[in-house]
Amino acid sequence: MTISIPFNRPYASGKEFEYIRQACLSSHISGDGPFTKKCHEWLRAHTGSANPFLTTSGTAALEMAALIANIQPGDEVIMPSFTFVSAANAFVLRGAIPVFVDIRTDTLNIDETLIEAAITKKTKAIVPVHYAGVACEMDTILEIAAKNNLIVIEDAAQGICSAYKGKMLGSIGSLGALSFHETKNLISGEGGAILVNEASLVERAEVIWQKGTDRKKFNQGLVDKYTWVELGSSFLPSDMIAAFLLAQFESGESITAAHNAIWEKYHLAFEELESRGRCVRPRVPEHCTHNAHFYHLIVAGDKRAQILRGLAAKGIGAVFHYVPLHSSPAGIKHARVSGSMVNTDRLSAGVIRLPMWVELSEQQQALVIESVIAELNEF
Ligand SMILES: *Cc1c(COP(=O)(O)O)cnc(C)c1O
Repeated sequence: MTISIPFNRPYASGKEFEYIRQACLSSHISGDGPFTKKCHEWLRAHTGSANPFLTTSGTAALEMAALIANIQPGDEVIMPSFTFVSAANAFVLRGAIPVFVDIRTDTLNIDETLIEAAITKKTKAIVPVHYAGVACEMDTILEIAAKNNLIVIEDAAQGICSAYKGKMLGSIGSLGALSFHETKNLISGEGGAILVNEASLVERAEVIWQKGTDRKKFNQGLVDKYTWVELGSSFLPSDMIAAFLLAQFESGESITAAHNAIWEKYHLAFEELESRGRCVRPRVPEHCTHNAHFYHLIVAGDKRAQILRGLAAKGIGAVFHYVPLHSSPAGIKHARVSGSMVNTDRLSAGVIRLPMWVELSEQQQALVIESVIAELNEF
């Protein structure tokens, strides 16, 4: 079985290679160089966050967030079970305990009405994950956090160029993690950023980013030697990576527009299937502007494997998504659930994601649509 239409194909807009050449010819290819600074400027302008820091991955951004938030052993962190492992790992690495809350049936995001019941004396943070680049109910989440003195760390790994009530994802909580992994909308192979939205956390973030040293102050001439002042790590990507990423950023609008056009076509094409109860299409609340990160359908859980096999036989790389963390070996060992996981279990079993990438042609998409309709009409 060869897959002729893959789920994802990384896209380069054209300037990537020229910028990497410039980075290589410059005398600064380690982190925090000229391209990193330009990427930070773009992120400031396009997310509204005053203090972005590029990281080596979205995972690294979440790990940095856990350090910035000063998460300690025994602390509890509320998050959905229906998410990527990195959201949980980042906190377990600090000795904390992820506490899983069920998801909403429409957006598949954390059900904000269940968060308060999960709060204990040990709760330190809430980690809303914006699934498919569609925002969680941030107003409610921020309100609960303020009332209970919790920090909000957005996992906006899929959310670049998406907004909630006009605010860009990642810029709404105290901290926001972005990913530029090759499967995301804007990419650098591996890459990410942490947005530090609270002024009181910025100095701490600078230290943690620079391996736990006050190197930033040293570079600014504020101290005459730099030294180890806090826990930290090497979170900075090379400036060659930032060079690639800058080119992607500069094409951010056209890349997002290309995703949106494909998303809209899928959405229209599957309206009839949904009306006949064969699948459920994604829901985007009125107040959310999304980046069309991927397109997914929810099908009957007991038919999914057969549907994916049928599509693969036609060369189409449709894929499932997360195995809920509460049912994974590490999740059972390191985390706990709060309440029922009924939506998480049912909906995660039925998710299929369809090919979505900038250069997906009209003919290719037409074949995907035709094949999905045929497969879903089988039963
Ligand atoms: C991709 C992703 C991550 C991890 O990002 P990497 O850059 O791959 O490390 C974390 N959380 C979510 C929700 C993601 O989709």
